[in-house]
Amino acid sequence: MHKMKKISKRFLILLFVIGCMAIAMKYCKERIDDKLSQEMKNSMELVAQQNETGLQREFQAQYNLLEILATEIGRQEISSQQIVERLQTVVNIYDSKRIGYVDAQGTVYTTDGFQQDLSFRDFFRDGMRGRVSVTEVLEDSLGEHEKINVFSVPVYNESSEDVMGVLFMTFRNSRLQDIIDYNCFNGNGTTYVFNQEEEMVVASEDTDISDKKSLLKSVREQISKDTDYAKKVDTNSQAGVHQFGTCTTSSGSKHYFCCTALNLMQNSGSVYVLTIVPEKYLTQLEEPFISTMQWLLTIVIVLIILGGVGFLVLQRRNEKEIRRRLCVDKLTGGDNLAAFTEKMEKYKGQSGYAISMDLDDFKMINDTFGIDKGDEVICEIWRIITEHLGKDELAAHANADNFAIFLQEDNQDQVEKRIKEMAEEICMLSAQLNVPHIVPAFGISYIHKLEERDWEYGKANTAKNQIKGRRDLFYAFFDEKATQKIQEEKGLEDAFQQSIEEERFELWYQPKVIQGGEVIHAAEALVRWRDDKGKLISPGKFIPLFEKNGMISILDEYVFEHVCMQQSEWQNMNMKSMPISVNISRASLYFDDIVERYTDIVKKYGVDPKMIQLEITESAMMENDEVEELIEKFQKQGFEMHMDDFGNGYSSMALLSKTKFDVLKLDKSLIDGIGDTSGELLLESLTGLAKKLGLTIVAEGVETKEQAAFIWEHSCDAIQGYYYYKPMQVEEFEDLMN
Ligand code: C2E
Ligand code: CA
Ligand code: CA
Repeated sequence: MHKMKKISKRFLILLFVIGCMAIAMKYCKERIDDKLSQEMKNSMELVAQQNETGLQREFQAQYNLLEILATEIGRQEISSQQIVERLQTVVNIYDSKRIGYVDAQGTVYTTDGFQQDLSFRDFFRDGMRGRVSVTEVLEDSLGEHEKINVFSVPVYNESSEDVMGVLFMTFRNSRLQDIIDYNCFNGNGTTYVFNQEEEMVVASEDTDISDKKSLLKSVREQISKDTDYAKKVDTNSQAGVHQFGTCTTSSGSKHYFCCTALNLMQNSGSVYVLTIVPEKYLTQLEEPFISTMQWLLTIVIVLIILGGVGFLVLQRRNEKEIRRRLCVDKLTGGDNLAAFTEKMEKYKGQSGYAISMDLDDFKMINDTFGIDKGDEVICEIWRIITEHLGKDELAAHANADNFAIFLQEDNQDQVEKRIKEMAEEICMLSAQLNVPHIVPAFGISYIHKLEERDWEYGKANTAKNQIKGRRDLFYAFFDEKATQKIQEEKGLEDAFQQSIEEERFELWYQPKVIQGGEVIHAAEALVRWRDDKGKLISPGKFIPLFEKNGMISILDEYVFEHVCMQQSEWQNMNMKSMPISVNISRASLYFDDIVERYTDIVKKYGVDPKMIQLEITESAMMENDEVEELIEKFQKQGFEMHMDDFGNGYSSMALLSKTKFDVLKLDKSLIDGIGDTSGELLLESLTGLAKKLGLTIVAEGVETKEQAAFIWEHSCDAIQGYYYYKPMQVEEFEDLMN
């Protein structure tokens, strides 16, 4: 997904660059177009001016000559025949094909001897109407059939001032063609001359006439949509301005044009000069620029693409290198945890075993033998692990002495077998590398269906941590229940302090009876924990935990103080009260000032220490010699001391004989021996000895009538057991006392 985004981003950048270049190229092309159009306009103007000058001179010359001749003829009363004879010399001078005079009846007399009717010719009719004109290109109907133009002027009778005939001069069309025919625009330009009737007088080349008509129409439309185009051209021409534009021929090809009118005599019709150049000529001119630009663009694009590809290749190579560096463990040269985690992706949904492994005391190896030796050990372990891996199995050196392994096994026995083999080889490294105590610890977690690989590895880690420091075990499978227990315990530890502050620990009382069960003479305070949902948690759940982490001393003092409070309350209310025993844990005894503190509390509440008895377990005595002293100190302050749980496992007659306790509490396990000969024998000898030592005996955990009977028979002093009373809440206990 991420990759796709990256690629499309690069593609967009490339498109953007190419787009910018295309726009730049378009701009350049437009600039070139503008520049060339301007050039073209200038050139056309030059051509037009040249044509104009040539034509103007030619036309003016013919008309002037004809005017002079016509005036001469109008002044004299001579016949048409005679007029022609006089003109004979002029023909030769002016290189005219012929000069002719058409009389009012339309009969022509020419210098080359023709005499016939020409009344059908337009120039005759125009002339008779007093107009000076030039004809379009005509096919000579008199002499040799060739293309001609006829210039004509009316001849006025000087005396009557009427038109008496028309004088004309015939020229070969090629004469006019020569004036405008030169190689303009590399032969691409064409010049046309039209008379007022829009008939073509001459063209610089021979072109189809119908095309010219449509051309003229297009020009006319371009010059002016509404006003008379001729007028506009005339006016502009008088002001020396040329008319420019583009026009289209009937075949659809576009042309640039330049149009102007010749300023001739007053009674002559206008003559228009039109120069056109096909648009393709401009394109031809542009072509070298455009193709150069295209080449440049192509080269730039190719360079960009090549650069881009090169960049991508380099980047990919860099990425690979970075990934390699990120994924390779420097020390072993194998995978690190990042690589391992990434590779585990492809095992999603599969089963197998995640294993976490480290050494029992790697720090010692590093500290004692140096980092280099430590590194050597790690590399050797890595070699052993990788040698034991199957085809589709993974391993990584995570950090320090931690390794992660993934075995594609389904059989737990097989995994154990393989772990043992690995462990054996690793242990052998001690001898090989001359380093003592290379002992691995493996934590193993079965993955039913791999989803969250980290979590599975975490489980393997948990399993490993559970056997850390145990010499009897070097591998352990992740145990859901054990972990749950750890988590529960953590929850209890976290809740402890707040529960103390909120006084959520309650005291329950279990009465102790004497005289065959007739009289309640004392009770034991037993703690209960009420959780935030109001449920009771039994001491078996939290006392061992708090003993382990030391929190028990806080709880013991809490219970002790609350019993004192209770005693003082009973005293103040004048209620019947009796001694209450309180348990003191082994851990609490490690605090030297415990006697002072407890004494202070008793004093604080004004309670007689006789009313508080202290129960200390037998096992506490075995581990701490100073306990002896503490017991004496407590006794000195007036507390009665009870040895709790006597007979539970560690019982020793020797301990009993040197004890300074006041009371001996027989553990339930001894009571459970009643009914069994050896059990009864043991109980009998213990009670006998205790009696001889002057100890008061309390039997704990008496549940049956038989047990009770046996106890009373064997000179025990008191019983604390379900057979008589279970632990009860304070209200119930108060009812019982009174
Ligand atoms: P413990 O000091 O030996 O207390 C006697 C335990 O035996 C009590 O269990 C009591 O309910 C139980 N018991 C008494 N008679 C019978 C009987 O006939 N049958 C059976 N099955 N059980 C009987 P509880 O209250 O669950 O306390 C368990 C242990 O928790 C106590 O053993 C004591 O070691 C510890 N404990 C309780 N409260 C405290 C305390 O405030 N401080 C300390 N340090 N430990 C405490
Ligand atoms: Ca006890
Ligand atoms: Ca006990």
